[in-house]
Amino acid sequence: MIHEIMPEVMDNQYRDRRPEGDDRVLFVRGREILVREGTDGISYPLYRDVKERTGRIVYLFSVSGHPYFLGELLTSEIGGTRFMGWEQLRDAGPRAEAFAGMTGIHLYQWYQSAQFCGRCGKKAVHHGKERMMYCPSCGHVMFPRIAPAVIVAVTDGERLLLTKYAGRENAHFALVAGFVEVGETAEECVRRELLEEVGIHVRDIRYYGSQPWGFAGNLMLAYTARLDGAHAIDLDRHELSEAAWLLPEEIPEIPDHSSLTREMIRRFREGRLYCH
Ligand SMILES: [Zn+2]
Repeated sequence: MIHEIMPEVMDNQYRDRRPEGDDRVLFVRGREILVREGTDGISYPLYRDVKERTGRIVYLFSVSGHPYFLGELLTSEIGGTRFMGWEQLRDAGPRAEAFAGMTGIHLYQWYQSAQFCGRCGKKAVHHGKERMMYCPSCGHVMFPRIAPAVIVAVTDGERLLLTKYAGRENAHFALVAGFVEVGETAEECVRRELLEEVGIHVRDIRYYGSQPWGFAGNLMLAYTARLDGAHAIDLDRHELSEAAWLLPEEIPEIPDHSSLTREMIRRFREGRLYCH
């Protein structure tokens, strides 16, 4: 999965430091990021090559000791680079660079939304010692936001429940997923989403694993579960275009395993998803 970058290691702790020399600079635009593409895959501009064209800049994290910064791009383009969309970035290599880009996009989105105090509307400033925006006027503090969401692989005997999202062309098969509501446990969210989206009840909800999914600001919490009762599907057509119970051999090959969803589907196809 995209966050599995061993032997590289990401150190997410904020540090009050300035960029230098060959530190990497991430320039983000929406959910796109500026990359160079070479024979070894993607890389990001070095500070010494872009410092004249960089406005505000803030430390993000380091990967195996190399610092990464988020920069404000003062020109419309930089030769030899292009903005890459998140759908392409998720499958790009090296994995550690794709993960750095995804995490940079998450932090960019948060910094964009934390420029002004959410309580009184005045301009917010960055705290020097930690990753926090605060309001000098009223004292309100804002930390990076992470939205928990669940994904669930439901089995009925030999079959796995797969869905396709509505309104997306060429949608791949997916698992039922949704945001955790305020005041709800992850397991309650699993039950609610399944009832809302496909009208089924489940038992034996088991934790599978988690994954940071910075493209949408999420922490994904994955579960397996077994159907409890009738397997007839009552589809929520606002959310989904299709839902079906499929045998392993009926499931098309999964293009990659960057996400928990794809990893779980792939493991089910290979008979390696534990659902009991
Ligand atoms: Zn304020």
